[in-house]
Amino acid sequence: MIVTRFAPSPNGSLHLGHAYSAIVAHDLARDAGGRILLRIEDIDGARSRPELADEFRRDLEWLGLEWEEVPAQSTRLASYEAAANRLLEMGMLYPCTCTRAEIDALEPRIGAQGVIYPGTCKGENFDPDRKAALRLDVDAVMAKVGQLSWQDALAGEQVADPREFGDVVLVRKDAPASYHLAATLDDAADGVTLVTRGQDLFAASHIHRLLQELLGLPVPRWHHHGLLLDEDGKKLAKRRGSPSLADRREAGEDGKALAESLRIGQMPCGITLPHYPHEGT
Ligand code: GLU
Ligand code: ZN
Repeated sequence: MIVTRFAPSPNGSLHLGHAYSAIVAHDLARDAGGRILLRIEDIDGARSRPELADEFRRDLEWLGLEWEEVPAQSTRLASYEAAANRLLEMGMLYPCTCTRAEIDALEPRIGAQGVIYPGTCKGENFDPDRKAALRLDVDAVMAKVGQLSWQDALAGEQVADPREFGDVVLVRKDAPASYHLAATLDDAADGVTLVTRGQDLFAASHIHRLLQELLGLPVPRWHHHGLLLDEDGKKLAKRRGSPSLADRREAGEDGKALAESLRIGQMPCGITLPHYPHEGT
């Protein structure tokens, strides 16, 4: 059975792009007689606003979606800690005390996903008086797991290549896990078989595939969908001032009609679905 999920972070209200993402997850599961899960990813420390989870549920209902909710990330911290300890014992993590400013001062390489950590702390004795994050030692991981592949429904078979991220943080200084560790563990624990999310998170799946191998987790398939664009062909982003789903709902807009127009790619503010770059059509 196909199990998909929609996994929003309660850092801000949901927007059209989230609606589209939820609809993709919902419809792929529904059309296959599967299940769609809602998971609130609320371990973002100070940025997390728990009251938004209720707003999200109302938004999804307004769009006419049905789902099963699984426990929020904040209730699963013990599993993140256990996995981090295992990775540490395997020699796959190292502590990093660098601040953002220290990393920037080294003029690091910038990958598609932002700054690539230059590895300063790797193999160094770290100062126990400074707060440390734990980073994935990608070289050690690659030496251990070898070449791995994963399947994207649109882009096809991918060879797991973590270079866009480099030695990512798996345990943050201010949180018990990073997105990568938490989401990978949760998708496995929740029995997700098809990870649906925006193509902006495509590269993250390379990292997640490595983590699955290291931790002996089942390997799902992925479906990275296209992103909504605004009239200028730019990715629709919150900061560009588009109304949230809650704003639209409260203004009396018909959520089911909105969902229908998103489904057929007819966007209410002149947005188009981009061509998927790896799609072989
Ligand atoms: N919580 C993530 C976000 O809101 C989604 C992660 C995912 O779908 O894997 O961006
Ligand atoms: Zn460091």
